[in-house]
Amino acid sequence: MAAAIANPSVSIQDLSLNFGVMSVLKTLNLDVAEGEFIVLLGPSGCGKSTLLNCIAGLLDISEGRIFIKGKNVTWEEPKDRGIGMVFQSYALYPQMTVEKNLSFGLRVAGVPKDEIAKRIARAAEILQIEPLLQRKPSALSGGQRQRVAIGRALVRDVDVFLFDEPLSNLDAKLRSELRVEIKLLHRRLQNTMIYVTHDQIEAMTLADRIAVMKGGVIQQLDAPQTIYNRPVNRFVAGFLGSPA
Ligand code: ADP
Ligand code: MG
Repeated sequence: MAAAIANPSVSIQDLSLNFGVMSVLKTLNLDVAEGEFIVLLGPSGCGKSTLLNCIAGLLDISEGRIFIKGKNVTWEEPKDRGIGMVFQSYALYPQMTVEKNLSFGLRVAGVPKDEIAKRIARAAEILQIEPLLQRKPSALSGGQRQRVAIGRALVRDVDVFLFDEPLSNLDAKLRSELRVEIKLLHRRLQNTMIYVTHDQIEAMTLADRIAVMKGGVIQQLDAPQTIYNRPVNRFVAGFLGSPA
């Protein structure tokens, strides 16, 4: 058992989620340290997206509590949780320019105009999307769209980013390019990231710690090397462990 994390950025306590009679998340516990990059890794259907959606507040949980930066957010609206989320499908507004896509949520939230402009300029610089700001999403490549989607989380100026398979719709070359960029983004921002994937390479290269999930349960939570060298059971070994 790993030592408890003092002042976790995200703390998930005894979280259960049922869809009807189906138990999808089973008394799950997870503490994420400030600035940590956690990857939720597991096969399709194991509950990764469901867990992320619970943290984001997009699903009501059946039991348990969720804390973000020490605050109990279990029953808070998504917008009040201090998180930014990036989905697999870019979820951009097709009729708006990139700039409008980035500013829309901020305008709704009543952020002053000059502050919005400042945040967009910073995000555009970090993600290298300055030349795209006046384009519509339909005029962008898949990789560019996903950058804009990340930008939309970035301008919200939050401490915790949630990513749900952000690279799965991209081809292999773009996937590895954006993987590197996400890593650099994390180095630069030093924020907390919870990143869902079923891709072992993404998990091994991005994570400070990997939570390997199966059937709504975290099987092992450890640094990539530890999981690779000392998988706790056959499932983890088969999914990610060393061939020995
Ligand atoms: P993953 O993201 O790991 O592929 P999900 O979290 O999407 O898995 O799904 C976990 C389980 O919950 C699956 O068995 C899925 O069929 C089920 N599930 C997901 N969303 C719903 C829903 N809205 N209603 C009923 N069952 C759902
Ligand atoms: Mg999923």
